[in-house]
Parts: sequence; C-alpha cells; structure tokens
Amino acid sequence: MPKYIFVTGGVVSGLGKGIAAAATGALLEAKGISVTIQKLDPYINVDPGTLSPFEHGEVFVTDDGCETDLDLGHYERFTHVRTSVFNNYTTGKIYNNVITKERRGDYLGDTVQVVPHITDAIKEAIRSAATRDYDVIIVEIGGTVGDIESLPFLEAIRQFRYEAGRENVLYMHLTLVPYIKAAGELKSKPTQHSVKELRAIGIQPDILLCRTEMPLSPDVKRKIALHCNIEPDAVIAAIDVETVYEVPLCFKAEGLDKLIEKKFSLNRPEPDLSLWTEVVKRIKEPKFEVTIAIVGKYVGLKDAYKSLTEALLHGGIANNARVNLHWVDAEEIEARGAEVLLSEVDGILVPGGFGSRGIEGKIKAVRYAREKKIPYFGICLGMQTAVIEFSRDVCGLSANSTEFDTGIKEPVIYLMERWYNHRTGKIEERTKDSHMGGTMRLGAYPCVIKEGTRAFNAYGIKEISERHRHRYEFNNKYRELLTKNGLIISGASPDGELVEMVELRNHPWFLGCQFHPEFKSKPIEPHPLFRAFIEAAIRKKELFL
Ligand code: GLN
Repeated sequence: MPKYIFVTGGVVSGLGKGIAAAATGALLEAKGISVTIQKLDPYINVDPGTLSPFEHGEVFVTDDGCETDLDLGHYERFTHVRTSVFNNYTTGKIYNNVITKERRGDYLGDTVQVVPHITDAIKEAIRSAATRDYDVIIVEIGGTVGDIESLPFLEAIRQFRYEAGRENVLYMHLTLVPYIKAAGELKSKPTQHSVKELRAIGIQPDILLCRTEMPLSPDVKRKIALHCNIEPDAVIAAIDVETVYEVPLCFKAEGLDKLIEKKFSLNRPEPDLSLWTEVVKRIKEPKFEVTIAIVGKYVGLKDAYKSLTEALLHGGIANNARVNLHWVDAEEIEARGAEVLLSEVDGILVPGGFGSRGIEGKIKAVRYAREKKIPYFGICLGMQTAVIEFSRDVCGLSANSTEFDTGIKEPVIYLMERWYNHRTGKIEERTKDSHMGGTMRLGAYPCVIKEGTRAFNAYGIKEISERHRHRYEFNNKYRELLTKNGLIISGASPDGELVEMVELRNHPWFLGCQFHPEFKSKPIEPHPLFRAFIEAAIRKKELFL
C-alpha cells in the first residue's frame, strides 16, 4: 500500500505548487523512495488540449498521448516519473466518467450527487495513479483553498485519509508569508486564514510550506505553528531562489525529508542530492553565455513554452553555458525583417505552433539562419517551416503547408489521410470531423536515425522514441526532389513513411524535427538535441568573437 502526500495551496495562486510537489518527489527519490505524482485540476475542460496557451500555459504531452497540464512537465523534469493518462484528472474528466456511468444505468436508480458519487470517482482517480508498486504517491490539487471549484477534491482527499488509514496520508499545504516593508515584518495572518479555511472542511495540514522572501525565524515559525495547530518543525520555509532546481536542496535544508520519513515511518538513508547541487552550480556559475532567439506566436506568455525554455536551460547546463532567451514575435519579423531582429543571436529556434499567423515571419527567420549559417533548431512547426523555406528558395517551388493554404500548388506539408500507427499496429485515419480538420498524432512514436547525421551525432543511437502533437506531415511526393537539392532526411518512422527529422549539409547546425524533444529533457539528463544545439551556438559565438 503506497503512502499519499496531498499538496494543497492557499492565500493566492501562482505560489508554485507544481514545483513544490515535484521538488518533494526529487527529494524522496534521492533517498531511494519510489514516487509518482498526480495532478487534479478543478477546471471543467475534459483535458487542457483545448485551452489557449495564452491563458493556461503549455499543453504537456505524455508518452501515451495525453494532453495534460504543464505541471506534469515539472514532475517529469524533477523526477524519474513517466506520466500517463493516470497522472492528470480534471473536474471535466471526472464528471464525464460519472455521467457516462449514469447514462449506462450503472447507478441503478440512485440520485447521482457530488457526495458520494463525484467524490468516489475522485478517490478512484487518485487510486489509479498506483500503476506500479510506488512507495509514495504525491497528489497535487489545483486551485486555491476557498475556490468553489476545488471543494469536491478537498472533500475527497479528506475522506481518503479515513479509507487509507491515518498513518498512510499526509497533508501538505503551501501558503504565502508576505514581508511587509513598511512594518519591516513577515506576516503570518494570511497563512492562519488559509489553514482555518482548510480545517473548516475537515483537513488539518501536517506540514506547511511557506513561500517567503526571507528566512523564517524560529519565532515566526513558532507563531505559525501555534495558530495553525502544528509542530514548529513542520513549518518549512520555501524561500525564493534563483533557480527552481534549487528547491529540492532548500527542502532538504529545512528537514522536509525527515518530516515525511517520520510521518510515514520510513527508514531511509540520507538523500544523495549531489546531482542537483551540480545542476545549481552550473546554472549559477556558467563558463559560457549564448543568446538564442525563439521566434513564435505566444511570446507574451512564457508559460506557453515552459518545457521548451527549460530544455534550452538544460542544453546550457550540459555545456556549462548561460542561455539568454531573446523572444521574437514572428509577425514583427514580417514587418521589420529578420536582419533587424536576429542579427545579434547565436542560435535561432522556431518552436511548435498552430495556425497561419506569423508563418511568413517564421519562414524568413529560417531563411536568415540558413543563409547566415546561424545554428537553427526547428521543432514541429519549426521543421515544417524549414521544409517550406527550402522548397521555395532552394528548389524554386511555390510551396506551403495545406494548414495555411489549402489550394497551394506544391503542398510539401500536408494532411496525410492514412498512416501506420506503430503504437497500436493499426492504420489510422486522420478523420476530418475534428474542429481543426483532422485528428492529431499524439504521444511517443519510434524514429530511426540515419547514421552519419547531426541527429545521430547527438543521440549516439539509431532508434529513439519521441513525443508528438501535430496533424500535418512531410509530403513524400517531394522527398526525392528535396533530397536531391541537399535536404537530408535524418530520421523517419521505422517503416520509413513519416519524416521525423531533416537537416542541411554545408551548415554548422541546421535541424528540424517533427516531434517535441523538449518534453523529455531534464536538468539531470539534458536532451541530446538541445545539448547539441547549444554546443553549436557556443561554437558559432566563439568563432565570431
Ligand atoms: N500546426 C502543425 C501541425 O499540426 C504543427 C504542430 C506543432 O507544431 N505542434 O502539424
């Protein structure tokens, strides 16, 4: 039977509950404790696939092809957890399950209610995270205590303790202890109120994680403990840090691992956090520095590219380099030209994206990188724009993707109606009934790498698996013409049908991939392509110095 840690948040949103849950996971793993982490989201969308990245940040994709909350990205980056459909539930998904059962007649005439039917379904969802024999399961409840939406989840985790046993359940609450400059004091009142709210619904937190700008003195901890009915040593200061990867070290310094160990009667050795210490050191004291331009559409909201910016940071860690991000709005390139906006950078990256806005600007950025021999990394849409640019400028085609121009003469990127799905072993139809005009290829698919290419150089192996989230594909009709003109197809599906990676000869580093490598990068295991891209950017910079 696994032990459960429920993580709730209070006072205000945006305190970093996802990071707190992930860092707790990292700390436990460093003690040899096996963990998984689950997120319960109070919103009604069945999954975040339909949420605007402007509003909700990036959609994270799991191996099994689920579109999930970006917090699952934190879980995977901090731990060895491989998330799946069982790691993320929303109110919408829970209700959907209950309503489907009701329609099937499974409730035998019962009045279907929030308690017990919805709360039962939530508890069942929580139990579903135990896909293996984990020692500890961390469950993060989205939203803030006091929100109407999160009430059924809080009620479910309250009930859960009775069913799983007191000794197997721990409640951890993340709050804010603000520093009021005028008074020169840290204030504990918001935390007291938040805990009061939680206790009113029957949950007494065991551990308080207090976000703070400065260390909490023993006096402050005692005061919080007294008012919140917990031990002073269970008040943990979650102090602001320069990099999130420092959080496991901070939690260790505050004794969080000991508290959890004591509560669950686990007897484990001291955690080995040497890898995290090294990661933090490399972030804080880099030897090199490069600037990478990200040419995209959602440059206003950084969370829309969370995994991507983290993966670039990891590429920097692998090379002992600070990676400065230069955000460029693709539409601005259309208006002002690539030269004006990209002349100072050491590498250019066009990330994934949907819709035609800014496409011509992205294509201009690709051309600039190709002609000026600046390292280029194109991800998903970034690979597609690289193919379009090459087809137009090198092969003289009137080319585009049918996503942006349905009547285009040379559809070098198009909607492949049928494709062989290596995961299911079936032929898939990209049905036209979806609101975006075709179903997506989602999740992990195998890719075979051609030896002697940059891709092979980076990965060092022939067979890889990477995650996808797209509809359109490279059109094989143009394969011969494009390769004859110098495009290298360096990666493809095992049957050779789906182009997964393209490269250019006579260029320091130019690579496009149809998948999203950023979803699999971690600070302690930087992704090979990001490592190689940053390495190329450093080389380019050194050359021009
Ligand atoms: N819009 C493109 C497609 O659907 C690319 C998607 C992406 O970059 N994730 O194929």
